[in-house]
Amino acid sequence: MNKRQKKTLTRIILSAAIMILLSGFQYFFRDLLDIDPSGWLKFFAYLVPYILVGYDILLKAWKGIKHRQPFDENFLMAVASIGAIVLGRVRTGDYAEGAAVMLFYQIGELFQSVAIGKSRRNISALMDIRPDSANLETEAGQVETVDPDEVETGSILVVRTGEKVPIDGIVVEGTSSLDTSALTGESVPRTVREGDEVLSGCINQQGLLRIRTTREFGDSTASKILDLVENASSRKSRPEAFITKFARIYTPAVCFAALALALLPPLFLLLTGQSADWGDWIMRALTFLVISCPCALVISIPLTFFAGIGGASSSGILVKGSNYFEGLAKIGTVVFDKTGTMTEGVFEVSGVHHAPAGEQYVLRMAALAESYSTHPIAQSLRRACGAEISRDSVTDVREISGQGVIATVEGHQVAAGNEKLMDAFSIQSEPCSSVGTVVHVAVDGVYQGHILIADQVKPAAAATVEALHQLGIGKTVMLTGDHQKAAQAVAAEIGMDEVYAELLPEDKLRKVEELMQAQTGRTLAFVGDGINDAPVLSRADLGIAMGALGSDAAIEAADVVLMDDNPLKVAKAIRIARKCLRIAYQNIVFAIAVKLICLVLGALGIASMWLAIFADVGVMVLAVLNAVRALRVKNL
Ligand code: ADP
Ligand code: MG
Repeated sequence: MNKRQKKTLTRIILSAAIMILLSGFQYFFRDLLDIDPSGWLKFFAYLVPYILVGYDILLKAWKGIKHRQPFDENFLMAVASIGAIVLGRVRTGDYAEGAAVMLFYQIGELFQSVAIGKSRRNISALMDIRPDSANLETEAGQVETVDPDEVETGSILVVRTGEKVPIDGIVVEGTSSLDTSALTGESVPRTVREGDEVLSGCINQQGLLRIRTTREFGDSTASKILDLVENASSRKSRPEAFITKFARIYTPAVCFAALALALLPPLFLLLTGQSADWGDWIMRALTFLVISCPCALVISIPLTFFAGIGGASSSGILVKGSNYFEGLAKIGTVVFDKTGTMTEGVFEVSGVHHAPAGEQYVLRMAALAESYSTHPIAQSLRRACGAEISRDSVTDVREISGQGVIATVEGHQVAAGNEKLMDAFSIQSEPCSSVGTVVHVAVDGVYQGHILIADQVKPAAAATVEALHQLGIGKTVMLTGDHQKAAQAVAAEIGMDEVYAELLPEDKLRKVEELMQAQTGRTLAFVGDGINDAPVLSRADLGIAMGALGSDAAIEAADVVLMDDNPLKVAKAIRIARKCLRIAYQNIVFAIAVKLICLVLGALGIASMWLAIFADVGVMVLAVLNAVRALRVKNL
C-alpha cells in the first residue's frame, strides 16, 4: 500500500469506528437522546464519520458538476448519500445508511486501487529489464558509471557478473552465459562469445563481457519492449470500448430514471386521488442510484486486459494492444513462413555440385556476393567459406527478395540465388537431385554450379501445428520462397495442412489475401521472422513476428511480437487471449446481471440501501479479483 492508500484506510477505520460507537451509544443510552429532541445533535454526530470518509468523493463530484461533466460514479454516490442523509433529517432520523454508502464505496475504491497497483508492480517486476546505469570504458581505459541515455553508439561497455546488459551490442571480449528470461520468459541460458550479438535486458551470469554498442539506448531492445508494453493500453479492445461508451450513456440514463422514479409514481398516485409517501419513493430512487453505479465494469474490464498484456509479456509475448486479443482468440487459419520460422534458419552447407572451377571458388564467390546480406542463407555461406572475407572488392550489390543477390566481385558479375534468379538472367541451371535448399551461382553469366544447403526443422514445429489443431484452428499453412521439393519435405515432417512454395514476397501477400477471403468470421494470422515479410505481417488480420527483436521493420509491422523464436508461443498467445476475453465477458455478464436484478428489486422497494451498497461493492471486489486472474498465464 502506498501513502495515499494508507491514509484512506485510516479514514475508513476511523469513520467505521465512530459509526459503530454512535449506534452503540444510541442503543444503550436511549434515554439520553431526550436531551436532543430536535435531533440535530445526532445529525451532526453522523456528519463527522460521513465527511471524514467521503470528503474527497464529494469534492470530485462537485468538480464534475463545475466542469459540466457531472455524470460519473462520484456524482452517483454523492447524490445518493446526501439524499439519504437529508431524508434522514426530515423523515426517519436515521443517518447510518447515508454514511454507510460512502464508507462502503470507499472500501471498494481502496480495494481496487490496491489491486491495480499490485498488478502494475507485478508487471514491472516481470518486465524488470530497464537498466539503471552503464559502465562506460573511457579512452584512458578507466570505467565510469554513466546514465545509459548518454552512451553513444560504438562505445565500449563493461558488463560484470550479475549486471544487466544496458544497450544492444556486440561482444568484443569475454565469454559468458546470459540469462534471457526477462526478455523471452524462458530461462534457458544463452552462451555468448566474441563477435556475438547481445541484447539489452539480458543478465550476465558469469564472467566479464566487454561489448561495443550497436545502438543508442532509446533504440535498444529493452527500451523498445518497454515502449511497446506501455503503449499497449492505448489500443482498446471491443469490450473496453463498449464499457467506455456504456458508462457514458448509462450513467446519465440511470440518473434520469432515478429522478423519474422519485417523481412519477407519487404524482400518479396523487393525481388518481390516492395518498403518496414521497419519502419512500425518494429513498427508492436513491437506492436505485447506488445500485446502478457501474464501477465494477468500468474498473474490471480495463484491468483484465492490462493484466492480460502484462502476463503475456512475462511469457515473452508482446501484444501491442488489447484489441489484438480478440484477433488472437478468433484465429481460424495460421500461415507460417518457412525459413527462420518453422526452421532454424541456420543452414549448413551439405555439398557443392557441378562446379567446374572447384568447390572453394564457388563458395567464395557466393560468400563474397552475399557479404552485405542479412538473410540466413547469406550468413551460412559466409560461415562456410571461412573467416577471410573482405567486403572491399564487392560493389553494386543488389538483393532481390525471394530470389537471391547479384553483385560485382573483383570485377566480375556474380549471381547467387535460386532458379528464379538464374531464369531472370537466362542462365541454364542444373537441378539438384537431393532435397534441400539450393543456391545456384553464376559468374559473368556463366553457370558455376550450385551449393546445397540444409536447414533444420525447429524441434517445436510439429508440436506447434498439433497444439493449434487442438485449439480448434482449422488450417495451418506454410508459405515459402524455397523450391517445391524442400518445402514439401519440411511440411510433411511438421504435419502442416497446406504448403505453397516458390513464392516471391508479393506472391506471399497475394496468397495471404486469398486465404483471408476464403474464411468468414475468423481471423488469419501470419507468423514470420521479419526477414522480407514485413508487408505480409501488416496485411494479415494479425501479424505475429517471432525472434524479431533485432528487426525493427518486423516489430513495426507486427501486432504481436514473440521475443524468442519458439513457434509454440503462437499457441500460448492464443490461449492467453482466450482466457483474457473469457474473464472480460464473465465480468460483463456477471456485473450487469447482478445490477439488473438489484435495480428491479430497488425500484420495487424490496432492496434497501444497505443491500444496494453491498451488492455494488461486492460485485466490484469479485470482478476485480477475477480480472487479476488474467495475469496468471505461466501454465497456460
Ligand atoms: P522463406 O519464404 O522460406 O522465408 P525467403 O523468402 O527469404 O524464404 O527466400 C526464398 C528463397 O529465395 C530462398 O529459399 C532462396 O532460394 C532465395 N533467396 C532469398 N534470399 C537469398 C539470398 N540472400 N541468397 C541466396 N538465395 C536467396
Ligand atoms: Mg523468411
